[in-house]
Amino acid sequence: MQDIITLKVLSAVSENGFSLDELVFQTRELFDKEGLPGFIGLILRLTDEKICMQMVQGKSEYSQPCCSEPRYEYQGSLSRRFRTSVGIVAINWRRLRCCNCGRTNIPLRDFLGIDLYQSKTLELEKMVTEIVSEQSYRRSSNHLGSIGNIPVPKSTAHRWVAQSDCDQMDDSGETFDMLFADGTGYKRRPDKAAKVNNRGELRVALGVDKSGSIVPLGAFSGKSWDEIAVVVRGERQDGKPIADMLVSDGERGIAQSFAQSCNSHQRCHWHTVRDLNYTMWQDKAKKDERKKMQKELSAIIGIELPEEDFEIVDGSDKKALAESVADAEYDIGKLIKKLYDKGYVTAGDYLSRASKNMFSYVRRWLLTGIVGPRASSMIERMMRELARRLKRMAFGWSEEGAARMARIIIKRFTSAEQWDKYWKKKLMIKGNVVLVLRSITAN
Ligand SMILES: [Zn+2]
Repeated sequence: MQDIITLKVLSAVSENGFSLDELVFQTRELFDKEGLPGFIGLILRLTDEKICMQMVQGKSEYSQPCCSEPRYEYQGSLSRRFRTSVGIVAINWRRLRCCNCGRTNIPLRDFLGIDLYQSKTLELEKMVTEIVSEQSYRRSSNHLGSIGNIPVPKSTAHRWVAQSDCDQMDDSGETFDMLFADGTGYKRRPDKAAKVNNRGELRVALGVDKSGSIVPLGAFSGKSWDEIAVVVRGERQDGKPIADMLVSDGERGIAQSFAQSCNSHQRCHWHTVRDLNYTMWQDKAKKDERKKMQKELSAIIGIELPEEDFEIVDGSDKKALAESVADAEYDIGKLIKKLYDKGYVTAGDYLSRASKNMFSYVRRWLLTGIVGPRASSMIERMMRELARRLKRMAFGWSEEGAARMARIIIKRFTSAEQWDKYWKKKLMIKGNVVLVLRSITAN
């Protein structure tokens, strides 16, 4: 009955017209009473009417035809409610029955491309994921409640994020310019029976492609670097490197698991200098001596690449640069000997391991002209941000929950553009809504 009345109103509108005052008055009343969801509901109602009317009149086909000669008649309506970022949108969509084959369908549902059991919009899912990845689930659901009246309880937000596939990582199989890997601690859910304490570690791998864009390759918890390397390698055939150069902070596991999957390996200078202090401290060296050795090391390893393009730098300068690498390696050898002579064995061992990959960035430049980093500061920044956000998100993560959230955070952090692109594709934004509105008013 309601449907027929609305139809009559609609036809009265198009035949006799209405005044601007009336339109403003009615629209304001609709907004006051039902807000934005009411307005969206109205548009859906008009769209439903238009589609169904045309189908019943045999004028058009919005869904796959049910048979060769479909003839439709109204068969009641169903009420549906959707959670959206502007609130609950409630509609009654019509059901049509084909008199020829007897099948029923819901034209508006097909038109909108909504799944059978869908109860929320994807744009809301995107918004929830973004808010949740900034702060705790509990705070998020309060926050969602306060913006635009979105009733999304904590448990629901949690489930949405857990079920979403928005944390998928790059699996293009390309060879990156650079590979970074690092870890950061977080408080995980302890399990006494399984002897799991609350100290979890999140491990992240990032690639930098030829154009300089950062591509997240994975975030893991409770996995060894070997296991992680297998995942990051993915479908790459043996011999196809993950990246031209691995830049590592010197954690042994990272180098062992990834170095053979990259053409070369650069130790982070900053970490090497820092860890020299730490290892000397382990060897009980005094503070001023530690500082002195750090200073010496910094002076040796600080070889600057020429600022000019590779092609412009002339051959003799390149030769001089290669010689300065040889000199620096000789000087590090002397420094290592000095450490051993003073009985600083831990520091000596450490520096002799680290020295092997100290000047890969210079060799690579001499070979290819590509300027690469000699510090892992880029991933450091990422890891600090990750640790900061995870800390804000309350404690007691499951391993998988933390890794998933980390993937979402690094995806958003490394490339907001990619993140938006992913959602845009999923949201099927075609730019047709304007057309729908226009065609309703034109009829
Ligand atoms: Zn049919």
